[in-house]
Amino acid sequence: MKELRTEKTRADIAQAILRLEGNTYSLVNYPMFEGIFNTPADRIVMRSGRQVSKTITESANIILDTSLNPYYPVIYANSSSKQTQAFSSSKLDPFLIQSPVIYKSCMKAAHVINNVYSKRLKNFSEIHLSYFSESADRVRGTTGNSIYLDEVQDMLYDAIIDAEQCLSAARYPKFTYAGTSKSMLSALEYFWLQSSQNEWIIPCEGCNKWNRPYMDIIGKHGIICKKCGKSLNTYKGRWYSFSEEDEPEIDGFWVPQIIMPMHCQVPSKWAQLLSNLEKYPEHKFLNEVMGLPIGEGSQTITEAMLRGMCNENLPMYQKRCPENSRNAMHVAAGIDWGGGTSASRTVLSIYAVYPEKPKFVKIFGKIYDAGEPSKHVEDIAYWVRRFRVIMAFGDHGGGNFAMSQLRSMIPDIRVVPVMYTEQNRPYRWDDAAARYTVNRTIMIDSFLMDIKQNIVEAVRWEDFAEFAVDFLNVFEEIIGEKSGIPRRVWRKYPEKPDDSLHSMVFGWFACRVLSGMLDFTAASPSTSI
Ligand SMILES: [Zn+2]
Repeated sequence: MKELRTEKTRADIAQAILRLEGNTYSLVNYPMFEGIFNTPADRIVMRSGRQVSKTITESANIILDTSLNPYYPVIYANSSSKQTQAFSSSKLDPFLIQSPVIYKSCMKAAHVINNVYSKRLKNFSEIHLSYFSESADRVRGTTGNSIYLDEVQDMLYDAIIDAEQCLSAARYPKFTYAGTSKSMLSALEYFWLQSSQNEWIIPCEGCNKWNRPYMDIIGKHGIICKKCGKSLNTYKGRWYSFSEEDEPEIDGFWVPQIIMPMHCQVPSKWAQLLSNLEKYPEHKFLNEVMGLPIGEGSQTITEAMLRGMCNENLPMYQKRCPENSRNAMHVAAGIDWGGGTSASRTVLSIYAVYPEKPKFVKIFGKIYDAGEPSKHVEDIAYWVRRFRVIMAFGDHGGGNFAMSQLRSMIPDIRVVPVMYTEQNRPYRWDDAAARYTVNRTIMIDSFLMDIKQNIVEAVRWEDFAEFAVDFLNVFEEIIGEKSGIPRRVWRKYPEKPDDSLHSMVFGWFACRVLSGMLDFTAASPSTSI
């Protein structure tokens, strides 16, 4: 195998050692995948249509990583458990078991493990399989040299950044992102826009025009030249970068169905594609066939809704006083800790709590844009004391260290971590870890419902406006269509902050706990009122 590695490309090696269903794994009808196998880039994004064999390409790459390198851990995550299980049993296992070279050299030893979520080869390389969309807590703590993320359009950008920490100890970390774009605002599209943006361009053998793979080359019997109408030979195509950056950080490949020989060279498949063009809604054709994004997700939170929450007679005071907390039974705080991405900041929100009304009024807030994180914790401890807060809830995800630091500074105040998860129940108290785990979608939904029902109030708009910006960076999206269990989630544009929203959600949750109001509805705020 050493010999193979020095003389041949990665695509050659894949074809030499992998077999599927009794046949050699061949790229003859997948010429575009050679470039993807052979890229020297350590970050790759594959933005593709459905049914273009992107998943089998990922599987082949994982097998190469682990079979050619001993002690090499790989992490694979899809956006749902169902799809991860399917990948493990119908994409990885066939390569491992049906390729004689791999089977003999990697799978026959007492210490070999072949489970759905975990595989260990004879050479002690490992494949850890997991899934996430809202929070990377299931993957956190796993160590890897390369990470493969599939159905990235259904993953929250911050969770991806969190998951990438699993590679922080790797000498040569490798990242592969794959998926089928839906909206322009997904993490997949964000990676794509930073990438080399390679398109499979095909020369016309009639007029020599190079054609890009857009809708205007879809002909009656296959792909045709945009200029002269002559049919195009996709085998003559090549990757061409349309990035305006000199050295993009990611090598990106756009793989629409129409360039794949299995679609454009097979009459029955092409007829199917044309029929889909007729019967699919435009967005579905663009997403699933062309692998292109469309639309920007629906924005539920509007400036009008936020202005409606603000009490114009209530300025933001720098201390607790009768004007901002007369007759309040408690004062509670919420903190979202910055970190993870460059856009993320630490934000503090303080509420006056009136359980009997019920009403929760955000009377103070602070955004920590720059400076030393430990100084932020000190400052938060100062404000929490000054406002005589009795309970502070903070995000557990990136801020565990900050939470314990804060707790040691204010030991007499209840400081409780809250962790966003994908669990079914709205909230759960985890006694062993002394924290709440909450369903992210349900919590944000319920918080917004409380705003709409005037249970949540805030200081006047003039003082609230700097926090409002973050609310406008989030939107609703439907994910998981492919796994058959579609659900609605909250997403934000990558690299735009949403911390003010979450600090208010955590503080509001503390208000609810103090008021004994632990019934949370899962209704969408966009449809309920
Ligand atoms: Zn032409």
